[in-house]
Amino acid sequence: MKSDKTKNKKPLIGILTNLLTVESGVFSGTERIYVNRDYITSILRAGGTPILLPIISDFEAMCQQIESVDAILISGGQDVHPLHYKEEPSRLLEAVCLERDEYEMAVIKHAFQLQKPIFGICRGLQLINVVFGGSLYQDIANDFPMSSFQHTQKSKKDDALHTVDIAQESWLSNVLEKEVLLTNSFHHQAIKNLAPGFRASAWAKDGVIEGIEKIDGPFIAGVQWHPEMMTEKHLDMHQLFCAFVAEASKNI
Ligand code: MN
Repeated sequence: MKSDKTKNKKPLIGILTNLLTVESGVFSGTERIYVNRDYITSILRAGGTPILLPIISDFEAMCQQIESVDAILISGGQDVHPLHYKEEPSRLLEAVCLERDEYEMAVIKHAFQLQKPIFGICRGLQLINVVFGGSLYQDIANDFPMSSFQHTQKSKKDDALHTVDIAQESWLSNVLEKEVLLTNSFHHQAIKNLAPGFRASAWAKDGVIEGIEKIDGPFIAGVQWHPEMMTEKHLDMHQLFCAFVAEASKNI
């Protein structure tokens, strides 16, 4: 029986952050930890309490970070280093950040062990796939010629670019109750081999995997687009965040 004190508590969503080195001015060389505000407002709007988790290298402190939250949201950012899926860097690889990779891979493993829900966005989906044994196309246009679509849009962040087909009886399908969704698109990489134990939950019409979810066990899902940039104007994207926060609520 939950006490009155915990009954109204909002789930605490740990948002993974990015690392930036200041390049000019008096603070040149200073490292900053940050995340796009859209992640924070989308979690708040969905009824969760956002908290930022900085990239750290201390394992015990990382464990404490994960133990203190109800769920993990993995934000977008750099390419995942191809060494993590046993490939050398292609000339079309963009910026990578090994320090962030290592921290986030440890976070995913520990959160999985503790059965905390995990939701990955863009790079987050790609990293989940790699941690569980999958691989990536280092550059869609070069490595996946079957795709002729534009996946790196030139239009505004909350404008939809392409459609995705949603797999029946998937988490996405249960949440959105539709078969086709309009999404934005800001990625030049995509899933090559899907990790064992996962299923694709959405595809672009050119065959690029746009959503994944774990088949059994604790909630782990990811989307290749950026729903957090669309929650203000698109109810579907807001509903995705509400469903993730609902998963986190089960843990309180
Ligand atoms: Mn796309």
